Amino acid sequence: MSEAATWEPVIGLEIHVQLKTETKMFCRCRNAYGDEPNANVCPVCLAFPGALPIANKRAIEECIKLGVALECAIAERAVFHRKNYFYPDLPKAYQISQYDEPLCAGGKLAVPTADGDIEIGITRAHLEEDAAKNIHVAESGRLDGATATLVDFNRGGTPLVEIVTEPDIHDAETAKRFLQLLRQTVVELGFSDAELDKGSMRFDINVSVRPAGSDELRTRTELKNMNSFNFAAKGIEREVARQIRIYEDGGTVDQETLHFDPGNEESAPSRSKEEAQDYRYFPEPDLVPVHPPAELVSRFREEIGELPGARIRRIADTLSFYDADVLVTGGLDRLWVALVDGGADPKEAANVLANQFVATGISPESVDAGELAKLVAARSAIPRAAFDEALGKVGEKGFSADPYLAQKAVSDVSELDPVIGRVIAANAAQAEQYRSGKTGLLGFFVGQVMKETGGKADPRVVNERVREKLG
Ligand code: ADP
Ligand code: MG
Ligand code: ZN
Repeated sequence: MSEAATWEPVIGLEIHVQLKTETKMFCRCRNAYGDEPNANVCPVCLAFPGALPIANKRAIEECIKLGVALECAIAERAVFHRKNYFYPDLPKAYQISQYDEPLCAGGKLAVPTADGDIEIGITRAHLEEDAAKNIHVAESGRLDGATATLVDFNRGGTPLVEIVTEPDIHDAETAKRFLQLLRQTVVELGFSDAELDKGSMRFDINVSVRPAGSDELRTRTELKNMNSFNFAAKGIEREVARQIRIYEDGGTVDQETLHFDPGNEESAPSRSKEEAQDYRYFPEPDLVPVHPPAELVSRFREEIGELPGARIRRIADTLSFYDADVLVTGGLDRLWVALVDGGADPKEAANVLANQFVATGISPESVDAGELAKLVAARSAIPRAAFDEALGKVGEKGFSADPYLAQKAVSDVSELDPVIGRVIAANAAQAEQYRSGKTGLLGFFVGQVMKETGGKADPRVVNERVREKLG
């Protein structure tokens, strides 16, 4: 029997998302990424004696709104707790977090797949504050080999939503897709950039395995502080395989925290045996309990539009499931709808967005969809060089497609034929190969003709003529 048939992975996720509120969670300091170190600090977030926290109303509302989007029950009474631990990036020696009375609990997020939805339970979503940032002074930027450690307190006190899932995930791919879908959801709600490379979204992944068919929960390990979807999937696969090997060899899995080095995929995880931490949670005496008003919750319920998962299912009626997934999790589907409404072929529109547009690195939100639609509709009528140049500028304020549409691609056969003739003559060997069945070389010839014409030829006409001349 294969391993996959005898063992079932069990995965639960804890995701942290920084909110981009104007100010921090419990003080009026500016909440901003990339400022001069220690520019945004005050007695509250530096934990001066006697300083008192005041909760950020906007952050509370955003956490509730996310909870509503995740179909959670919103608490009628939520409480902040102190979570005590000692670390240089935590000047109070406790983090204000939530414990047994979180703002949101008991929700779900459905992950659509080509074979239907996989429903993942959301245990809770609560609000807390981020810690400050330790900066290890060393070439590697890591603790190992550092000569000093500095602390930047700007990040200390940033509002953080923590989302915890039930151990409902049973493969790496679903974990990855859940994370992508959750990221897209918070980005669309508008209160986090959830940028993995800037640390505004990070996740811990709990992994165990069990005999297939059983519902026991065995000892889990935790992959800490991941910030890449692909790396998360790889880390899960590797950890599942490791645990299976241990059980098959008659061993036991230790509860521990594992750190994968994103720069070195091949390296074994480093381990830190964690003592069972006792955080001595107790209610934060300096903050009053939160009572989310019922009107607010129902207003949020009405305000939340069609979520990414539902849009994937809808678009998958027209495109393949894969294409629908790429468009929605990439935040591209609003543009896709505009392109299709503008007359573009659905599949072609998806390709332009998922390949050419994504390669520009332009944020989809910055694009005037109407102008992009005009441009794509004219794609084969204008020179390719003009199209590429315009595509690189669609994110600019006030971008207009019109000047590019005025340029016409050369589709005049009498102009193109001589060029095509020259290209074929100059590449006789390839022409021979093409004729003997290597038709994949068509693109090579079209590319050469495009190059010869400075990108001005109409690729459709070139395609047709080259095929004819070679055929
Ligand atoms: P803690 O508070 O110590 O972090 P929790 O029990 O709240 O622990 O669980 C944290 C995460 O671990 C949740 O996402 C949960 O689904 C997951 N989890 C719990 N038990 C297991 C297990 N046996 N295997 C995999 N994941 C688990
Ligand atoms: Mg945990
Ligand atoms: Zn402050």
